[in-house]
Amino acid sequence: MTDKHIRLFIPGPVEVRPEILQAQTEWMIGHRSAAFADLYARMQPKLQQTFRTQNRVYIFTSSGSGVWEAASRNCVRDEGRVLHLVNGAFSKRWAEVSELNGKQVDKIVVEEGMAVLPEHLAEALSKQSYDAVAAVYNETSTGVLNPVAAYGEILKNYPDTLFLLDAVSAYAGAPMHIDAWGVDLCLTSTQKAFALPPGMAFGTVSQRVLDRAATIKNRGYYFDLLTIEKHHVKNNTPATPPVSLMFAADKQLDDILAEGLEAREARHRKMSEMTRAWGLQAGFESFPQAGYESPTLSVLRNTLGVNIKEVNAFLRQRGMEIASGYGNVKETTFRIAHMGDTQPSHMEELFANFDAYLAQR
Ligand SMILES: *Cc1c(COP(=O)(O)O)cnc(C)c1O
Repeated sequence: MTDKHIRLFIPGPVEVRPEILQAQTEWMIGHRSAAFADLYARMQPKLQQTFRTQNRVYIFTSSGSGVWEAASRNCVRDEGRVLHLVNGAFSKRWAEVSELNGKQVDKIVVEEGMAVLPEHLAEALSKQSYDAVAAVYNETSTGVLNPVAAYGEILKNYPDTLFLLDAVSAYAGAPMHIDAWGVDLCLTSTQKAFALPPGMAFGTVSQRVLDRAATIKNRGYYFDLLTIEKHHVKNNTPATPPVSLMFAADKQLDDILAEGLEAREARHRKMSEMTRAWGLQAGFESFPQAGYESPTLSVLRNTLGVNIKEVNAFLRQRGMEIASGYGNVKETTFRIAHMGDTQPSHMEELFANFDAYLAQR
């Protein structure tokens, strides 16, 4: 490894601990071997615990975007209609994925920085029936954590509507209660709060999803959940999985459960509060609607008009990096991620360096 280490405070990929990088260097095993089935099998209960679900958790050889496609294709009938809740660039893109797969898409669109409120959802569902509702838990472009538990309450009155949830930048940082919320399919990728290198995704899948998929003809090939299920029950995957990443994930799951899910959630919440407090005293404003701030990344309104490229040139000299704004609010905001194995002490170091930049500017 080069000794040029830049600690990433960007919302993916995030900083990966040396022990996790090391865990990827296990000798290779064949994915049809008993050793692989054992690795797959021992990850399952740990994955279920981290999502707080009894549902199966599939391992996808793709980033999270692939599972968007899997969800849209397997859960929305060929002539079916899906409702997307949109409050930023990522939720908007998932709606595009459904459209590109030929589904009929309705959207609830709210202004960037705002949460999609449960009453918006209740109203839409009272007017039109849907095969599925697709929501993003943590909108990474705006730093808004949507009230997904309340969506789940509403959706309990619509048994034919599947609840699809993107938890890409939330899982392993924000509270996950898949079964309590009644989520049918929850997807995430490994390079965000799970703090692994990129290249793998997880998806929780309910029986209702598989029953729906069985009624759909054009499920495609690579993301056909019924094929994946056939292999899943044998602790296997249809195509070659990212074995090295799975070794690292197996260790990361142990470490996450050793820290404790509540403790991990509290640490993320604390880093979010620290970042907001620092930002306000430095002269920035918090961008998201009050009360809906993400625990895994803070989006600040760039009220001081600092040049984020210049900030990052300064920070990189000191071994760290933050993120510019994203999507429609690219020029007016910037983002500081505090997810994964990042600790409050790392945040203090970042704030000290950002303050030094502001002082010499
Ligand atoms: C990063 C992100 C994605 C895209 O995930 P990839 O793993 O990059 O494909 C989707 N949704 C949200 C909310 C994200 O933050």
